[in-house]
This record gives sequence, structure tokens and C-alpha cells, in this order.
Amino acid sequence: SQITNLPPTAELQARDARHHLHPFTHAAGLAEKGARIITRAEGCWLTDSEGNTILDAMAGLWCVNVGYGRQELVEAAARQMAELPFYNTFFQTTHVPAIELSERLAELAPEHMNRVFFAGSGSEANDTNIRMVRTYWDLKGQPERVNIISRWNAYHGSSVGSGSLGGMKGMHAQGGMPIPGIHHIDQPNWWAEGGDMSPEDFGRARAQALEEKILELGPDTVAAFIAEPVQGAGGVIVPPESYWPEVSRIVEKYGILLIADEVICGFGRTGNWFGSETMGIRPDIMTIAKGLSSGYQPIGGSIVSDEVAEVIGGAEFNHGYTYSGHPVACAVALENLRILDEEGIVTRVRTETGPYLKQKFESLTEHPLVGEAKIVGMMGSIALTPDKASRAAFAADAGTVGYLCRERCFANNLVMRHVGDRMIVSPPLVISKAEIDTLIERAWRSLDEAM
Ligand code: PLP
Repeated sequence: SQITNLPPTAELQARDARHHLHPFTHAAGLAEKGARIITRAEGCWLTDSEGNTILDAMAGLWCVNVGYGRQELVEAAARQMAELPFYNTFFQTTHVPAIELSERLAELAPEHMNRVFFAGSGSEANDTNIRMVRTYWDLKGQPERVNIISRWNAYHGSSVGSGSLGGMKGMHAQGGMPIPGIHHIDQPNWWAEGGDMSPEDFGRARAQALEEKILELGPDTVAAFIAEPVQGAGGVIVPPESYWPEVSRIVEKYGILLIADEVICGFGRTGNWFGSETMGIRPDIMTIAKGLSSGYQPIGGSIVSDEVAEVIGGAEFNHGYTYSGHPVACAVALENLRILDEEGIVTRVRTETGPYLKQKFESLTEHPLVGEAKIVGMMGSIALTPDKASRAAFAADAGTVGYLCRERCFANNLVMRHVGDRMIVSPPLVISKAEIDTLIERAWRSLDEAM
């Protein structure tokens, strides 16, 4: 097999360390330790170069929604590569996969959203959104509306534009971010920041921070507010129920555009096709990527409301990527959407496996290290704490216990991620009840070992 023909792991690791610079990685630290080498995958299970089988409770990077090893996706890619491996969608041409995928996305999106601008990734799509909302206001005769409000701890990508939208201070510290005109407000993280307030009061207060920011900047200068329906990479922060209704009231009151970043939440992750549906949001633009193709091909995009599309369509939009609407990526995404739909995967997350995972996941709060457990559909997190009653953080060494837990999970052949002292799951949406049991059992054992 492929595994037995592999060079020894240590040799591969040394070659990797010599030539490969990894994203979001301290290169010298990794060189010392050696990267884990993933060689193949099937369903929810990864295999590494040592022959270990590992339960992937992160669906790769929150993206392999239909699971690994789907032959239909391989065949869709091969068919399209043979037929038309590439053609651009610039300069008055198009092709059938882009036509069919945009049509299908318009069917799945909320009623008022029927146009799609394609990109190669979520980062690119959010860069599109920055330019699109500013161009929209310019074309409407309000060119002073350039400010975009986002949230601290948000993740919207790693390009200079999308990284500026994001609220990761460690990213801003490198390479000249944020770009001008991007402003951040606090996130609705009740566990860490809610103090003595009830979750609902706190949710409302954090939403009202948006109104305060709009008034501070001047309502006539604000173009848009961007947020993930449920903040993902920031630690799966599920907002209190009061949060989104209040945000919706505020964006409506000031007539600013709402961009829902659905890169993680989209395509079934929260139990509906879009997180906006789950959270009751009416966006003007939705950013999509990841689960759109289940990660089998790089593709992203912006689904746009009829109103925004009409205004933008009134002039040439000088923006696009070589791989906007890449035919192979579009063909794979279409097939992926067919699988999600015809196999009832989104419905099963909402009605069956999602509720089962929720019940098991919430039982982790019985572990001495675990404060709260929050989960929507198939994205969840637990907060690690030395004292549940006071919701204390591991102050002096924030993140260390989370890191230790993640390492113990890794040793127990379970991929979970940590963000500070929160541990995250976001498994393939096809995970079975038996696999959920294995996930929880390995997570519990790893928590025990981290104490
Ligand atoms: N938006 C959100 C909410 C994300 O989680 C991510 C990636 O994790 C992105 C945007 C960026 O997408 P990409 O990594 O495809 O550029």
C-alpha cells in the first residue's frame, strides 16, 4: 500500500522542516518536534505515516463536511478536468459549472439573495466584500461610507484585507494590519467577559457596543458590519439569544449592510444550510468557502442580495481572481451540495446526530476541568477552568492547559483544537453516533490526563 512504500517518518519530517514553511506555525519549534504526517483518510478517520488511525473531530479545518474518501467528488473533479480544466469567468465568458453552481447557491440561500461572486478562498471572498460594500455606497452617492465594523477575536481570513477585518491582535501585529477604515467591537463571550451580568443582559450590551461604535464614527460613514453567526476560530463563541436580534435592530436602524461570514457556519454546520438561518439573521452578503466543497477543492465566494447586486451591477466592478469560478472547483462544489442534500446530511445534523452530540458534549461539564460546554449543530467548545463557580481563567498561563489538552487528544488519536483555554470540536457532519461516543470518551480521557 501507499503506507508501506513511504520513506521513514523521521526522514519525511526532516525534509519537511528543511523546505516547507507552515501557516500559523513557529517553524523552529516544529522542526524540533517534527510534523505529524497525514497520509490518507476515510469518513471521519485520518491515517498517519506511523499507521495510527485518528478521529478527526475538526473536519480538517472545519471544512470536510461530507467526510473523507467520497468517490463521487473524485469523479466530478476528473470529469471536469477532462472536459474543461480551466477557463476564466472574466471578460464576458462563462462556463456551465459556474452557471450551475451559482444557480444552486441562489436556491439554497435566503429568498432575497440570488447572485454569487466567486473567489478561491474565504480570505479572498472577504477581500471582495470590503471592496464590494465600499463600491456599493460609492455608487449610491454616499462615498463617505467607508468604515467597516467587525469584532475582536473574529477570524475572517489571512490576507491583508481579511486579516484586518479579523480581530486577532497577534495577526495585526505582523505585516501592517489593520488597513484604514476597519474598526472592532467586543465579542459576546459571556463565559470569559460577562462578569456578574446575566447572559441575556450581556448579549444585549455587547450588541449595543455596535450602536455606540456607529455613533462614534458617525452613522453616515459606516458601510457595513461583518460577523460570523457563531464565532468559530475565536473559540466557538455561541452568542446569548439576545445578541443577534439586537444587532439586527441596530444595522436596520442605521441602514448599514450586514455581512454574515458563513465560511464555517455554512453548508450544514449549524443544522441549517446557513448559520444565518439558525441565528435568525437577514444578511446582505454571505461569505462562503470551506464546506461549499467540503474542502475537496479550494473555492469561496460572496452570495449577494438582489439589492446589492443591482447597485454593483450598475458599473464595472474592477475586481476578480484568476480562479473566480474555477470550473473544477465549481463541479466538485455542485456534487458536494448534491450529496449534502440527497443524503439528508443537513437535516440529520439538525434532528438526529446534532442533538445526540449536544447531549454527549454537554456531559463533559461533569469533568472537573470543564466549565461551560456550548454547541450549535456540529460546532462546539468547552471552557477549561480551575474554578467553575467563579468562571476563573488559568490566569498566569492562559492557553497552556488548553495546549496540554490538545496534545493529550493528539496522543489519544483524537484531533480537537484549542483556542486559549477553550477546546473545540467541529467534526465531519457524517459522524455516526458510535463515533460521537468514541470522540467523547477520548476527550474525557485526554482531560483526565491534562489535570
Ligand atoms: N472566515 C471564516 C469565518 C473562517 O473561519 C475562515 C478560515 O478559517 C476564513 C474566513 C478564511 O478562509 P480561507 O482560509 O479559506 O481563506
